Amino acid sequence: MSTPDHTTPGASNPPVQRRVRIHTGPPPVTSNGDRPLRESVFELDNVAIAYGSNIAVAGVNMRIQRNLVTAFIGPSGCGKTTLIRSLNRMNDSVPGFDINGEIRYHGHNLYGRGADRVEVRRRIGMVFQKPNPFPKSIFDNVAWAARNLGMRKGLHERVEEALRAAALWDEVKDRLKDSALGLSGGQQQRLCIARTIAIEPDVVLLDEPASALDPISTQAIEELVHTLKTRYTIVIVTHNMQQAARVADRTAFFSLDASPDGTQQCGTLIEYNDTEKIFNDPADLRTRDYVTGRFG
Ligand code: ADP
Ligand code: MG
Repeated sequence: MSTPDHTTPGASNPPVQRRVRIHTGPPPVTSNGDRPLRESVFELDNVAIAYGSNIAVAGVNMRIQRNLVTAFIGPSGCGKTTLIRSLNRMNDSVPGFDINGEIRYHGHNLYGRGADRVEVRRRIGMVFQKPNPFPKSIFDNVAWAARNLGMRKGLHERVEEALRAAALWDEVKDRLKDSALGLSGGQQQRLCIARTIAIEPDVVLLDEPASALDPISTQAIEELVHTLKTRYTIVIVTHNMQQAARVADRTAFFSLDASPDGTQQCGTLIEYNDTEKIFNDPADLRTRDYVTGRFG
């Protein structure tokens, strides 16, 4: 079993502190000519990530906007997983992991000294490529993080609401005490999404959430992503271009290019724009070749 993706506040940890302030008001309506600028949830400034001497990505500058679905696409090995995992500090314990540049979350340096890792995981949930339900009941899976964070009040309602939001309630409501491991792959992945949203995060990160699923389950996940974006800011990695075109408002195309010091190939953000523009009128020839299937 993989390690739980929410840090458990234990005796040695202080209670959850609300150091990161979330702005809950409407996005600012600063005009950008044709459409208003949305609030940035993440701002990445010249981000470079290495494992030891191997540079995974470098020179990444981008803003991820609130209540949109942002897709990361690009060939295998160009750092998509590395980058999405860095958005909730999931790489911190990976040997050799080293990050340079700055990632700000609602204006706070995510890797700064004041950042509370428990709070980061609480605000920024993650769903992995392979569904990873815990060997517990369906109910206990969804209740898991809420219990760990001391959110015991109204737990049944919370679990029901999360399962409804994950479009799984009707399929499991009569067997909440059954093991989650008895669910199909597609149901397990929706359960993992329910587990993530049960603590009402601000952001949901999805790393190729449908790549191990059949087409029907994939469609269910895509529909789910579409409905969830009214409540959450979503970042999704996908190698499926049609999927990016269907679910994402904004798309970032990554590819391998020379590292800034010229010593190796590393993941590079080639182009980032509205999905429609990336797919129909990309500015860079490499993007065009990739989205038309000529390479990658
Ligand atoms: P993608 O998700 O786009 O396929 P990854 O982020 O998985 O790309 O990998 C980017 C680069 O980082 C690759 O060269 C990969 O070998 C390397 N890498 C990924 N994870 C690790 C790790 N845990 N330790 C060392 N190198 C890693
Ligand atoms: Mg990956």
